[in-house]
Amino acid sequence: MTHKEKAIELLKQKYHCSQALLGAFAGDFGLDLKTAFKISTCFGGGMRQGTTCGCITGGLLVLGLAFGFTDPQDKELETYGNRKTEEYIRAFRERMQGDIYCRDILGKDISIPEDMAVIRQEGLILQRCPRAFFVSIEILEKMLEEYGGELLSVDLEEIDINEDEEIQIMLKNMSRRQRFRRHVRALLNETERKVAFVQFDICRFKIINDLYGERFGDEVLYWIREKLKELCNERQYFVNLRSDVFQVVTEYDEVSELYRMMEAMGRELEVYKAVKLQYSIGVYLVEDAGMELRQMEDRAAMARKAAKNSLLSEVVFYQEQFKTSLYNRKFVEDNIDIAIREGQLQMYLQPKYSISQNRIIGAEALVRWSHPQRGMIYPMEFLPVIEEDGFITKVDFYMWKKAGEFLGRCQKAGIRDCPLSVNLSRRHLQDREFMQVLEHIVEESGICKHLLELEITETMEEHVSQAAREMKEQGFKLLMDDFGSGYSSLNILLETPFDVLKLDRKFMENMMVSDKGRLILEHIITMAEQLKLGLIAEGVETREQVEMLKQMGCDQVQGYYYAKPMPEEDFYRLLLENRGAGIR
Ligand code: C2E
Ligand code: MG
Ligand code: MG
Repeated sequence: MTHKEKAIELLKQKYHCSQALLGAFAGDFGLDLKTAFKISTCFGGGMRQGTTCGCITGGLLVLGLAFGFTDPQDKELETYGNRKTEEYIRAFRERMQGDIYCRDILGKDISIPEDMAVIRQEGLILQRCPRAFFVSIEILEKMLEEYGGELLSVDLEEIDINEDEEIQIMLKNMSRRQRFRRHVRALLNETERKVAFVQFDICRFKIINDLYGERFGDEVLYWIREKLKELCNERQYFVNLRSDVFQVVTEYDEVSELYRMMEAMGRELEVYKAVKLQYSIGVYLVEDAGMELRQMEDRAAMARKAAKNSLLSEVVFYQEQFKTSLYNRKFVEDNIDIAIREGQLQMYLQPKYSISQNRIIGAEALVRWSHPQRGMIYPMEFLPVIEEDGFITKVDFYMWKKAGEFLGRCQKAGIRDCPLSVNLSRRHLQDREFMQVLEHIVEESGICKHLLELEITETMEEHVSQAAREMKEQGFKLLMDDFGSGYSSLNILLETPFDVLKLDRKFMENMMVSDKGRLILEHIITMAEQLKLGLIAEGVETREQVEMLKQMGCDQVQGYYYAKPMPEEDFYRLLLENRGAGIR
């Protein structure tokens, strides 16, 4: 993503101007958005007073990160500056023809909260300020690219020897990155051959740090840098992008040359002090030499991350579709917190039916993310991302609370026979906090415990039995979700006291296409009966499936044939209608 694209995306997400500008460049300094914004809230005095354009504030923050803050406060502009401040402001003023006052450009006063709300709500910055934005990005790109390396090396000389060690290391790394980029840009401009970006990191580097200590981890990284110096020839450039991420840019004619190079490097970098190292390697083959370097690096990074998830290969070449998946991941990570805070997450309910009684017997709560710009986002697009960092537990808590509230409302309306099941991420099993949360929800909404049912997927092998037993002791009803989709369904069944099996959707498909599928299903239904377990079939889509399930003795179903997941209000209405019609 270019700086411009990134800035526009942030503006669309209702970040304000200086945040969007700083955020667009954050990655250049190895900063994540959260850290960048933390920095931005410390500054920005000029903009907050509604005078100076936010692009100046944001621009100076970017320059500050690049070159350090050295000048005293500039009283006139009320912004802190560095040695590049004046040059930047001069260039900005010139290109904007003096038009640099926020109130003039926006027609609103960013320092007044009500005005600020309108600005965000109506996306005024995007409508009225694109010129200021693009001008500032262009100036910043030019300054960073042209002066970055030299300036940083000067800064380094000037740094006090007692200066914080971390800052020194950061500046050195930035200086190296800038120098690397200049060399690569020159190579891309002049070479007749093809060019590839090979990016790699150490698999499970965190574990190495934990096991052998951070000092050992640092030693490993130093050793790799020294090795790469030996291994790269004068037309191959390498850089340590951050922590354990390295990148080599090389010319090539045939892809086989790249494989040979990677093999040779792999051999040299395989063992350090008897510790075996493995790498995830991503390769981007440059197609358009005019593309921004950062974009090329991003693509190599996407391939590297894909290599991490690939079981088949430790080398992955970039493909176009990686772009969307990685953007999504970043989008989710950066926005899920706001989504919860601003009520963008909604509870959808999918009814469960009894075939024989033709009535609703409950519902499953399924999360939906209704994003103001992106529209509806489905669980499989964001839950796997937040499962990794554990944020999913917050989403679950939110959904359980909503489910509790809904049940409370039903109870007040006299509907006491419509349990809701909520999904439980495996993340909860790592501690017992979730049980207290559940207890609290039940207490607060004043409902009977058995009305809030818990769906646990059968793939949650670890500690599932113990946690499940405890939940059961507390009086909750347990449903085994997606039964039959994993490898250990039957084992878990033996060890864990589930009340109900939810047959995986796959069974519905298999049952329709093969006798064998049908036979297995019949036996599972019998088994559930004999074990005195409840049974509900998921993903029921057709009349034929309903008929067949009925014949086999499975009465409870959930699926598009009866109803899709719907907003809670719609479900509430449906419940009332059905009761009114005597269907209940
Ligand atoms: P699940 O718990 O197995 O939920 C059933 C999924 O199947 C839902 O997808 C539902 O919309 C879909 N479905 C229902 N009937 C049919 C049908 O007839 N045909 C087809 N093709 N699909 C049907 P959804 O809502 O996209 O959720 C996907 C998964 O995301 C859920 O699978 C569940 O594992 C997870 N999930 C959803 N909401 C939450 C939540 O709040 N917390 C947690 N931890 N997981 C959730
Ligand atoms: Mg479920
Ligand atoms: Mg399921």
